[in-house]
Amino acid sequence: MRLDDEAESRNVEDRRGAGGGGGGGFRIGGGRSIGIGTIVIALAAAYFFGIDPMLILNGGSTGQSGSYSQPQTQQRQMDPRAQPQASANDQDAVFVRRVLGNTERTWQQIFRTRYNQDYPAPKLVLFSGGTATACGAGQSAMGPFYCPNDRTVYIDLSFYRELRERFGAGGDFAQAYVIAHEVGHHVQNVLGVMNKVDAARQRMSREQANQLSVRVELQADCFAGVWANVAQKNNAKLIEPGDFQEGLNAAGAIGDDRLQKQTQGRVVPEAFTHGTSVQRQRWLNRGLATGDLGQCDTFGAKTL
Ligand SMILES: [Zn+2]
Repeated sequence: MRLDDEAESRNVEDRRGAGGGGGGGFRIGGGRSIGIGTIVIALAAAYFFGIDPMLILNGGSTGQSGSYSQPQTQQRQMDPRAQPQASANDQDAVFVRRVLGNTERTWQQIFRTRYNQDYPAPKLVLFSGGTATACGAGQSAMGPFYCPNDRTVYIDLSFYRELRERFGAGGDFAQAYVIAHEVGHHVQNVLGVMNKVDAARQRMSREQANQLSVRVELQADCFAGVWANVAQKNNAKLIEPGDFQEGLNAAGAIGDDRLQKQTQGRVVPEAFTHGTSVQRQRWLNRGLATGDLGQCDTFGAKTL
C-alpha cells in the first residue's frame, strides 16, 4: 500500500503502556496462566476478529448474549477529557491512523452515495495487554475486536506480529484488512444489523447462534472488501500489486477451520463463529471485486 498521501484519522486513542495489562486480566501470549476450560474454549473461538469476545465468554451456553446485546447502554464510557493522542509517531501508530483515516473518507462517500447520510466514524483504541471497554475488560489475547456499546475498535498491535509470524499473513494490506474488518462491524452496527442479530440470537440454540455469527463475520469481511475496492477507485496508487492477495491470504489464515486445527488439532464445524478459510476469502473477495454493499447479503445467501 502507499499511504503517504493519506490524512491521518483523529479518532485514534493511544492507550499503549497505560498499564491496563495487569488489571486482573489473563495473558495468553507467552504465559500459560489460564486454568479455566471455558475461557480457553472461548478464546480459541474468539481469538480473531471478534465482534465482542464477551459474547462468547458471558453468553453462548447460557442463552444470554451478554454485554454485546445492549448497544443502548453506556454509549460513551470513555473519559471525554481523554482526547485522542496524536503524539505517538511510531510507524505502527501512523499506519493505523492513515488506514483509519482512509476508511472514514471512503465510508463517508459510500454512505452519502447509498444512503444520503453522513457516516458516523468509530473510535479506535490502541492498547497493550488489556484495557477497559464498554463491553467489559478487553484483552489482547482476544485479538482485535469491535465494541458496539462504545462504537470503538480495539487493537493491540502485537497482533500484527502474530499474524505475520504465527499465521504467515504478513504485509501492510493484511494489516489494513484487520482494521477494515473491524470497521465493517461498526458499519453493521450503524446500519442496524447488529441489533437485529442480537434480537434473533435470544431465541436460538448455541449452534444456530454460531451460524448467525458466521454470517455477521463474513459480512464484515465483505464490507472490508468494499472499502478497499472504493478506496482503490479513489486513489489507484493506494493499492499496489499483490495487496489484495495479501488480504485474501490473511482471510484464509484466520478461518475457523484452520484456526481450530492449529489450536485444538481438529475441526468442529458447529463451533465455527467466523467462517472457514474458503468462506472468508470468498466474501472478502466479493467485496474487493465489486465494491458494492448490495453484494454483501450474507444473511440472505443460501450458500456461504
Ligand atoms: Zn469480526
